[in-house]
Amino acid sequence: MKHATFGRMELLQGDITGLQVEAIVNAANCSLLGGGGVDGAIHRAAGLQLLAECKTLNGCETGQAKITAGYRLPARYVIHTVGPVYRQRPQDAQLLAACYQNSLKLAAAHGLKTVAFPAISCGVYGYPPKKACAIAVDTVKVFLQQDHGLEKVLFVVYADEIYRLYHDYLTTNVH
Ligand code: ADP
Repeated sequence: MKHATFGRMELLQGDITGLQVEAIVNAANCSLLGGGGVDGAIHRAAGLQLLAECKTLNGCETGQAKITAGYRLPARYVIHTVGPVYRQRPQDAQLLAACYQNSLKLAAAHGLKTVAFPAISCGVYGYPPKKACAIAVDTVKVFLQQDHGLEKVLFVVYADEIYRLYHDYLTTNVH
């Protein structure tokens, strides 16, 4: 499994459901009732109690975030956020940035120190990974500079190609 550190940001290749961090972020859909990709993997690993808690949340709007317990996951919490379906609209980038911002705000509000993000919207939602990676890293970087008590943010990616994109962008833009 590949791994690299860039200050308080870390890049990891692997399965986000196996991580022993305080919170993992789920790239959910508006229903919050599970789906494919990373969402399906998180629900499978966490068990049916996660679905039961999600049913009480009345869904989530695109760009917003909601927190639940992690149940059978090694992570204590799951932060569910809904990325935009990529449609080449100007608001796509704002909505994707809002996912990162609102997830980080929720983590900080719960006093969490470590949060792991998947590549939100880069799967079935079709966001071009290179564009999404720049938004993810820039948004997290600004948030960490503002110092909300967060100590570490991990980017957890599956594909070699997306790992390379993040690695290149972090190398060039984070010191
Ligand atoms: P979205 O609907 O937001 O596009 P997807 O789950 O389809 O979400 O994909 C988001 C990204 O998460 C993709 O790059 C996909 O390869 C990756 N992914 C899928 N499963 C996992 C996992 N278990 N851990 C980490 N990343 C994953």
